[in-house]
Amino acid sequence: MGSVKRRLVLRGFFAAAAAASVTGCAAVATSARPRVVVVGGGWGGLGAVRALVPGGKVDATLIEPNDGFMSCPLSILYIAGYAPASDFQRGYDVIDSLGVRRVKDRVVDIDRAGRMIKTATRSIPYDFLVLATGLEYMEEALPGYAGARDQFPVGFRAFEQSAVRRQVATFLDQGGHYLITVPKPPYRCPPAPYERACLIAQRMKEKGTKGKVIVVDANKGPMPPPLAKPMLTAMREMYGAQIEYINEVDPKSIDPGKKSLATSKGDIPFQHANIILPMRAPGLIRKAGLGERFAGVELPSFRSRADKSIFVVGDSQGAPLPKSGHIAFGAGQQVGEQILATIAGKHKAADLGDEVTLPGAICWGKVSTSLAIMINVTSSVVVGDPPKVSYEVDPAANAASSKGAMDWGRDTWNAMLG
Ligand SMILES: Cc1cc2nc3c(=O)[nH]c(=O)nc-3n(C[C@H](O)[C@H](O)[C@H](O)COP(=O)(O)OP(=O)(O)OC[C@H]3O[C@@H](n4cnc5c(N)ncnc54)[C@H](O)[C@@H]3O)c2cc1C
Repeated sequence: MGSVKRRLVLRGFFAAAAAASVTGCAAVATSARPRVVVVGGGWGGLGAVRALVPGGKVDATLIEPNDGFMSCPLSILYIAGYAPASDFQRGYDVIDSLGVRRVKDRVVDIDRAGRMIKTATRSIPYDFLVLATGLEYMEEALPGYAGARDQFPVGFRAFEQSAVRRQVATFLDQGGHYLITVPKPPYRCPPAPYERACLIAQRMKEKGTKGKVIVVDANKGPMPPPLAKPMLTAMREMYGAQIEYINEVDPKSIDPGKKSLATSKGDIPFQHANIILPMRAPGLIRKAGLGERFAGVELPSFRSRADKSIFVVGDSQGAPLPKSGHIAFGAGQQVGEQILATIAGKHKAADLGDEVTLPGAICWGKVSTSLAIMINVTSSVVVGDPPKVSYEVDPAANAASSKGAMDWGRDTWNAMLG
């Protein structure tokens, strides 16, 4: 009885959404099929699009300002000079060939009452909206940073890697102190800052660069905590002369002219700095009233707590799950399937107290071109409670995980855009 009621509610919701769209959407031609708009053509958005399109049941639109995709996972190989950028880039040709309407633009506003998203030049109506907009950096967290952002690229979003690549190349030629700051979680891919330090250190050894990489960590140890031991061991044993690791340091401000970072443990001078800032969902999400720092979602559905026609997947959503591409892609797929099932009147929402498996994560902490530490994350939620997350981490960096990382990258990029 309960599930019949729920299905009726969902049908009722969809019927209401469709009716609103016919009356309220003069800006774009109406469509017989439900309109699903996906914002963001990264990991989460591509998961949703790939699940939504087969069968032609929905009128799907993908809005993304970039011409193509660039992976952050594994792109350290480009940043440290071991692989060309093109190894981590893909075009959207497959998406175009699947009949998805791709709009190369940036969404600037969400009109929730009118079920319409807005770019600078057009309005696009939706019946279902999937937001997969990734994140933005909290520049105000470090006084002195905003005026010098070009000098200190973060490089944790697609295509920003080239600025960090140029900075690293200069450091490798000139030597000196290369600072990497690590914020407190939640931030995108917790192992990534340490991976960056290790691969730059490997390059220093090969090129004979004089100086060191200084990792200034706001945390007690490398994140996530189960990674701390194998990562510290790798940094110490492989790069004892290249990496200095300082834990529990709070950066207070940065002086770009003097090249000095003021911290809770004193001033740290540097020649080059990769300042990895705290992160949050883009302003678009907060402006639309979908959350404070990140979007509030219900689990396991990833449906916005504030708006039943909106789903938020990937790093913009605020459930305490790792900020991982693997999870983003899986959550996008799950939401796409859920929307199709809802439209077909077949979606059965989980009941309060049910335990449901959530999309899993695999993250890779590469410590050299041939060694990596695998972090396998499984999670589940008892509906109504916070999710349970458990980690399985390699006890030591190894060659099998390094190969596994490359295989995973190839397979995942193919699933997204192959
Ligand atoms: C160095 C590094 C290493 C990593 N390694 C791993 C790993 O080993 N395994 C793993 O699983 N994850 C890894 N990650 C994490 C992974 O990259 C992220 O979790 C993933 O990108 C999140 O997907 P997303 O869809 O939320 O955001 P993104 O992939 O960033 O996609 C967001 C998209 O939204 C678009 N967008 C933003 N705002 C708007 C707007 N207003 N209008 C239209 N479009 C918009 C952007 O252009 C972008 O294309 C790593 C990350 C980094 C930085």
